[in-house]
Formats: sequence, C-alpha cells, structure tokens
Amino acid sequence: MEAGNKLYEGGCFCGQVKFTLEGAPEGMGYCHCESCRKWSAGPVNAFTLWKPAALRVTKGAERIASYNKTPASTRKWCASCGGHVFTEHPAWNLVDVYAASIPTFPFAPGVHVHYQETKLRMKDGLPKMRDLPKEMGGSGEVVAE
Ligand SMILES: [Zn+2]
Ligand SMILES: [Zn+2]
Repeated sequence: MEAGNKLYEGGCFCGQVKFTLEGAPEGMGYCHCESCRKWSAGPVNAFTLWKPAALRVTKGAERIASYNKTPASTRKWCASCGGHVFTEHPAWNLVDVYAASIPTFPFAPGVHVHYQETKLRMKDGLPKMRDLPKEMGGSGEVVAE
C-alpha cells in the first residue's frame, strides 16, 4: 500500500467473503440497465469502477462463484449467502464493485448510465446518459431526467 492511499473494506452478505479496495475509483454512478436490474433484483445498481489492481480478496476467495451471460461481464457472488460482491469487465480493464458491498466507502455518484431503460427515475441533477459514455462504447447522448 502506497503512503496516503485509502483502504476500504467490503464483503458479502454473510461475511465469509471479504476484500479491500485501495485508492480511488475511476468512476461511480448508477446503472439502470436490464441486466443490472435482473441480476441485482433491484430497480438500479450503484456501481464503483476500479482498476483490477485496486481490489484484493482477503477472505473466502474459494467461496466466490461467477457467471458470464456475455464475455463483457463476469458477475461474482458468495456461494454461501448469494450476496453479490463485484463484476469484472475485462474489455474495459475495470471491476465494478457494488457500492452496497463497501459500507465505509464514501459513494459519490457522478452519472447515471443506460437511463433510457430506467424503471426508477431519479431527479438528483446528475447527467443521465442514454446508454454509455462514448469512451465506453456508447452514444454519449444525455437524456432528460
Ligand atoms: Zn456470503
Ligand atoms: Zn447495468
């Protein structure tokens, strides 16, 4: 750990899987896409995107199960409790750690993505991307709240 770098602890629902995150995320916000809604069984997913090197599983690595619906996302959860922990996005070289699984991290969302699919409008004044930013392969279009 580099001097001055912040360290955050996270884990699954039952606590058998634990991990740390070091430093700061590359981006954070809310995703409204159907995949996130179906997989999380919630109306929206609060994401934090990190370089893979920032994440270290410190306990229960053997409990982590994973599923790929597409090669773009490897979804990970605890096989004991079913609690979701993070999703790897290898093409972007990023890992999405769910804000809900890192309770001490000061989540500061900056953007909403895939807002054209929303089931829960959120009038918080943040930009609403129709799909994704251009640099992530999307249209870069911003839509109304
Ligand atoms: Zn668990
Ligand atoms: Zn999504």
